[in-house]
Parts: sequence; structure tokens; C-alpha cells
Amino acid sequence: MTALANQGWPNAIFLMTLSLPPSPDPSETPGTPSGLAPSRPSESARQIVDVHVHLWESLEQLGAEAARRIRQRFVTQPWDQPDVSVQALDQAMEPVRYAIVLGLDCGYVGASIPCQQVARYVARQPEKYLGFAGIDPMASGYLSNLRTAVDLGLVGVTVSPAAGGYHPSDSRAMRLYEHCQEMNLPVVVHPGTHFAGSAKLEYSQPYLYDEVARIFPGLRLVLGGVGLPWAEQAIIMIGKHPTCYADLSDLASRPWQLYNVLLLAYQQGVMDRLLFGSDFPFTTPQTAIHNIYSVNTITHGTHLPTIPREQLRRVVERDALACLGLKPPFQSLDPATGQPTNTQTPTDALTPETPATGSVGSATA
Ligand SMILES: [Zn+2]
Repeated sequence: MTALANQGWPNAIFLMTLSLPPSPDPSETPGTPSGLAPSRPSESARQIVDVHVHLWESLEQLGAEAARRIRQRFVTQPWDQPDVSVQALDQAMEPVRYAIVLGLDCGYVGASIPCQQVARYVARQPEKYLGFAGIDPMASGYLSNLRTAVDLGLVGVTVSPAAGGYHPSDSRAMRLYEHCQEMNLPVVVHPGTHFAGSAKLEYSQPYLYDEVARIFPGLRLVLGGVGLPWAEQAIIMIGKHPTCYADLSDLASRPWQLYNVLLLAYQQGVMDRLLFGSDFPFTTPQTAIHNIYSVNTITHGTHLPTIPREQLRRVVERDALACLGLKPPFQSLDPATGQPTNTQTPTDALTPETPATGSVGSATA
């Protein structure tokens, strides 16, 4: 259970007094006042986008310590062992129109799912899958990795400050965000739920991205797993910053936690900033969708408030690609070859000498 679930109703009621009016949803409103996201054809608005998908070839890619801990868990909880084959991925993603496969690069815990591997997964169904590169800004050659990722057609970045062992506003991380803003690469911030005991959980607190969002107002941020285990911070962050979102990954299998997070988002007026994410292979989109739509069943026979079903539907069917400023893969086909390509992120924007604008952060690794 998260701190949110443990703190209960008084805190939720207190937060209601801080509620902000809902901001426009770029997936449902043609154009936006800020002009930060392109409008999309209405016929695509109901297509489900899973923004949080993992796949690996061996547990060691999550780091040696994480692999050992996960194997130990499988001994006592064999039913928790997910199928991470590409066939399982394709089957699980049938209910969704688009899925974003996340890479991983955290030298601190020895975790690496390189961009080449992510690109191979995307190539299985390039009309459906999009890839985000795992980038470790503490690695000396991370700019080279970013350039390679863009050349491979990946369209976003994943960072993991907890597993990477760095403060989110470390000057090297700030330089990465600056590049991402220049190149229109959205950034998924993976929550602190890494299996390695050495991961620095304190660096996954969502409020630490407040400085990042203030300095880079054009950077699209997604707080993965609604910032678990600090969902309240994440909810405040997405209400504060118009380019900040949160995804529901890692929540669908825990109905009480899912209910509390969705209710808080509803009461805060920020449901339009939540994106659907399954956290495959730990949960499938089918299960996640079912659990979101049935979240109000937990209130049956009680006086607990419910969340309007229409609000839940909008979360599930939100056009996350539009929110993140991404083109659907079919809009990125090379007209000469007919092959998928990516023209959103010119690599000549990658200039290693470019300093981060404004403050370069309040901490060092
Ligand atoms: Zn994840």
C-alpha cells in the first residue's frame, strides 16, 4: 500500500481545498491554448494508447541484484512470473492501438535494455509500437546513445533517477532534459519501484521534478506509476505544470490503491492529465482496462464517493500520443520508401557543449 492509501480520507478532503480547474485535454480539444500539442483527427481519439510497456531478454538486464531478488520471489510466488516473450507482448497488446516500449539504462544498478533492443521490438509492428530509449545522464557517452536512439527511430526517453542513483535536477540530467525539449522528445520518469535495494528511493519523489518542469516548460514529462510511492506529489505536479502527465502503470493490480489515486485525481480536477499504462509484463492492458472501469465496485455498500464512468473512459481512451506531441507511426512513413521513419527529432540538435539553460540543478550525483 502506498502512503496515499494509508493516509486515508482526511488528507484527500484537505487536498480538495487546493483543487485547480481542469486544464484542457489536447486529445479531446482541437488545438490548445498553449499550442503545446497538435490537434488530432477525432476518429483516432478513442484509440487506446499504452504508454508504459517493458520487455527484456533476461532478468540480468534489470541489474544483477534485481534479477536475484526477482528469482527469489518467483520461488515463493511462481504465479507472479510474467511471460516476457515477444509473442506474449503482441498478444497482450491486441486491445490497444499504440504501445510505447520503454528502454532502460541505469549504470548505478547495472541495468540496461539498450535502444537497439527496443528498436527491434518496435520493428515487429512499426505501425503499432513506439520506442523510448533508456538514457542514463550519468554515463559519459549518453549523448551518443541518445543520437543512436533517434537514428533508430525511437521517439522519447526514459529516465530512472532512483535506479540511476542521481538527483533529478543534477546538472548532467538537466542537460539531457534540455536536449529532449529541443528535440521534442517526451520523457517518462520511471517510479522508484526498482527491485534493487541499492536504488535511491528518495530521488524518485515527483516533487523533485518541479524544478525541471519550471526550467523546461516545453518538456513533456510523464510521471510513471503516478510517482509511486508518492502519488499525492505526482497529482499536484500534473495539476501545476501543463506539460506534465502521469501514467497509471503498476496500479491496476491493486484496486484500493487504484481507487484512491483516481479519486484524488478526480477531486483535484486533473483526470485529463492521466495516461493509460499497463506496466506489461506485470499487468496486461486487458486486466488494467477492466480494473479501471470496475474501480467503483470497491464502493458498493459503502458511503465512499464514486468516480464518473465517463471520466474513467477518457483516461483509458486518451490520445496519449497527442498529449506527448508524438505523431502516430503511420504519419512517420518515409514517402519515398514507404518504411516507417522518424522525422521529429533531428540529431543535429545534439550539441554536447550546449549548457543547460537557467539553473543547472540543486544537487549533484
Ligand atoms: Zn515500469
